[in-house]
Amino acid sequence: VAHNVIDQLLIVQDRDRTLARLRREAQDVPARQKMIEAQADRERKELLVAQEQVKKKLSAAKQVELEVGAHQERIAKLRMQQTQVKTNEEYRALEKEIKTAQDEIRKLEDGELEVMEEIEALRQIIAGRESDLKKRESEIKVQLIDMHQRLAALQKEIEETQTQRAGLVKDVAPDWLGRYERVFQHNGEFGVVPVENGACGGCHMKLPAQVVHDAKKTGRMVLCNFCGAILFWKP
Ligand SMILES: [Zn+2]
Repeated sequence: VAHNVIDQLLIVQDRDRTLARLRREAQDVPARQKMIEAQADRERKELLVAQEQVKKKLSAAKQVELEVGAHQERIAKLRMQQTQVKTNEEYRALEKEIKTAQDEIRKLEDGELEVMEEIEALRQIIAGRESDLKKRESEIKVQLIDMHQRLAALQKEIEETQTQRAGLVKDVAPDWLGRYERVFQHNGEFGVVPVENGACGGCHMKLPAQVVHDAKKTGRMVLCNFCGAILFWKP
């Protein structure tokens, strides 16, 4: 049990700092959860885009096959016509048409080959991303469970610290406690501070000599002229 009011307030201040830290940490948890989930969402979307690209390329390849088929039918018809022509001239004209259609087919098939290679490359990328995503998703599950537990632990710690604090402040003189609490609530870090090299240990402003002198005497409440914190002398 602390003997004087300064020692009592220092212990309260220690609990208040712990509470502030725990509350900040607890507040950060939902934001971190959201960040992790947003990252997974982005990865899922990227995967969908790649899958969409494969679909488009597959339908382009299908279209090419249809065109090749049409040319092949045309060649078959031209060959039939060749068996029925009467002159060499007509035969050569048909041969020329057949040659043109064959060139078309070759061009189309070259293009199709390229598309199929692109599809293969995309499929490999997709397979890699899918397995990455699977891993990430199970990691995320674990992380979220951890965070959930961390949050529960923080809340428990906050409650325990609050209970401790409530027990401590019962014994503190109300005027001292009131002053301390006002300052701490205002700056979130301190309400009772030592004099340090003639300056306030909280706001670090140089104190008047009289204030330093007063702070050396115990039993009197001496305040920083600048931040209002309760000052004490640490020999
Ligand atoms: Zn100050």
